[in-house]
Amino acid sequence: MSASEFKERADVVVVGGGPGGCAAALTAARLGAEVILLEALDLVGGNAARSTGYMAFADFEAQRAAGIADSPRGYLADMQAEVARQRESYGVVLDDTLAACYAEESAATYRFLVELGFRFNRFVPRPGQHTTDRMMDVADVGMFSRCFGSALQEAGVQVRHHRRARRLITEGGSVVGVRWASSEESPGAKELGECCANSGVILAAGGYQANFQLRSRYQPGHLSNTPYLGIHTDRGDGHLMGQALGGDLINMTMIPPLVMVASALVENSIAVDASGRRFHDEACPYDDRVRALDEASGRRAYYIFDAETAKSRADLIGQMPRPAVSAPTLEGLAREIDCEPSALRSTVERWNATVASGLRTDPDFGRMVFPAEGAGIVRPPFWASPMVVGINFPAGGFRVSLNCGVFNVFGEVIPGLFAVGDCVGGIAPAIGLGGVKISSAVTLGRIAGRAVAGKQPPTPAEPAVTAPADATPSTDEPSPRIPIVG
Ligand SMILES: Cc1cc2nc3c(=O)[nH]c(=O)nc-3n(C[C@H](O)[C@H](O)[C@H](O)COP(=O)(O)OP(=O)(O)OC[C@H]3O[C@@H](n4cnc5c(N)ncnc54)[C@H](O)[C@@H]3O)c2cc1C
Repeated sequence: MSASEFKERADVVVVGGGPGGCAAALTAARLGAEVILLEALDLVGGNAARSTGYMAFADFEAQRAAGIADSPRGYLADMQAEVARQRESYGVVLDDTLAACYAEESAATYRFLVELGFRFNRFVPRPGQHTTDRMMDVADVGMFSRCFGSALQEAGVQVRHHRRARRLITEGGSVVGVRWASSEESPGAKELGECCANSGVILAAGGYQANFQLRSRYQPGHLSNTPYLGIHTDRGDGHLMGQALGGDLINMTMIPPLVMVASALVENSIAVDASGRRFHDEACPYDDRVRALDEASGRRAYYIFDAETAKSRADLIGQMPRPAVSAPTLEGLAREIDCEPSALRSTVERWNATVASGLRTDPDFGRMVFPAEGAGIVRPPFWASPMVVGINFPAGGFRVSLNCGVFNVFGEVIPGLFAVGDCVGGIAPAIGLGGVKISSAVTLGRIAGRAVAGKQPPTPAEPAVTAPADATPSTDEPSPRIPIVG
């Protein structure tokens, strides 16, 4: 079939229907733009619909209602501290100006989500990373597909499933459209086509973690073979298409190893090593968990949880790279995982006593994240899931302007090309804080949607912080100044 048979035109073409692409498409459509969204899969929601659903915002309604004082400046400072911590390992930089813009806009992102029907459960403490309670968990990550899906439909966004964008179309140096092919996931006949964009194309195709060739280019040694549990369509297509036009990719080396487990499962579990004893704060920073596992005897350790958790977190347990084992008693479970039965029993009993005591800090390892349901590991059968190192999210992506315009390697914005979410590299090295990725994807999506539909972000009064040398905006695009409220 010839490409011309499938030629379409809209004001805006969005590549990818994760939280970044959905927010961008929705915002642009609500401002009157005609929008086509290309999505390789049969559902929108992207990796967010497979995630734990932790999201961080600064100075937002739920914090105020709970009497928690916070500010975008405080959030920015936490991101800067986290990236300073990671700089030595990965050589990464935070784009302070973009991060300040995200922090400032994050409260509006929370409102945007609540208005779409998102519900949040509670604050999840991460005191070692976020200096105040600002991270919440989404009540159900299926909302990323459902709430965005119905809002896109209502706003008239033309969502084209099973279409994989393959190339950007340019005219006189400007991006004017996208060439696509039926995605490998498409059940129907293979098709090709073009979507032309009057105002711009937004790259929202997620990260490059499912592309082992790309990973091995940026990630050293054996790490590029570690498992990845997210969607397989995050193959770096956005990165490659933008790179082909000279787009400036930054922070690509950071694809942090982490222990493959959803935080919602960690909350209800303890981890024991081969001796049957706990060996770290299970909810500590991701890299510290990897270090703890590295140092555990024989690098062999397990998350232990009970029947209640096995039921309530069944989907998360099913996604773990290696199968969990169970037994009707703790002694039986100890035999399954080859550890000392009496040690496992006393470890579990001590944890249960800590949970029941109502303490807010575990006296053994300083853990401050406890089961949401307030119950210990009590109901048989008991379960053990092996701890395995893998990856979830890479940090690398394009350097972008405050309107999410993609910079080329010479620091000039590529006309007509925008990037959001995991296609952007300037904020993601702060991953280790927790809750940064989805919230910033939606925030940048809103900003890009506004920009491409012709409404720029508000022009603020005060400069935020000095951008690092490699985040200097192009002289072609004056950078709006970002207000920081104290
Ligand atoms: C297991 C797991 C747990 C996580 N937990 C959290 C968490 O609790 N909090 C947090 O902040 N972050 C978390 N993340 C990261 C977070 O999910 C992502 O950073 C976020 O979803 C990125 O949003 P996005 O819109 O940029 O891309 P994605 O959500 O990755 O979506 C990209 C979309 O683009 C589509 N696509 C890709 N290529 C093409 C193409 N060529 N053409 C058309 N469509 C294409 C994909 O199918 C996908 O739907 C987690 C990730 C994983 C894997």
